[in-house]
Amino acid sequence: MLKRGSCIVTDAVFLDRDGTINKDTGYVHKPEDLLILPGVIKGLQLLSYCKLFIITNQSGIGRGYFTKEEFFTFNNLLVKNLNDNNITIIETYYCPHKPDAGCDCRKPRIKHLKDAEKKYKIDLSRSYVIGDQASDIEMGRKGGCKTMLVLTGHGEKHHKNFTLKPDIIVNNLYEGAEFIANER
Ligand SMILES: [Mg+2]
Ligand SMILES: [Zn+2]
Repeated sequence: MLKRGSCIVTDAVFLDRDGTINKDTGYVHKPEDLLILPGVIKGLQLLSYCKLFIITNQSGIGRGYFTKEEFFTFNNLLVKNLNDNNITIIETYYCPHKPDAGCDCRKPRIKHLKDAEKKYKIDLSRSYVIGDQASDIEMGRKGGCKTMLVLTGHGEKHHKNFTLKPDIIVNNLYEGAEFIANER
């Protein structure tokens, strides 16, 4: 694990989606429910020197609450919105399975991290996982990334019960991005 202030530039940032980038209304998938949280655009613009990814659990697909197509429609809209603001998401990784499906891609499992590591030659030890849930923090820790909890979405109410402590806790993604940008 790197020491803070070691002036090593962050390689990738793996972002959770719902509750971290956009408002989590619960199995959010309708275009009209897309609301990017305050400060997220400005924050991610600070991280334009990092490779940005989304890793998201979407069990609503497996549960039959919405289809894969609906997921893509919503996600494409989100990514386009970011893109219009000069923010590039290199790839969105998602798990469509139910929690009990026994798949290998649902967070906190690290398949998506490892896939990105291989495909894009990411140095996971110089990368962050940012999210609002314990499963985000757990995935990041297991993958050898630095972990950051945002107190938006789920994190706000539940983080005191986390068994695994995140490396950094911030109020929102803007604060987190500022922290990472200041490490340069
Ligand atoms: Mg989340
Ligand atoms: Zn899965």
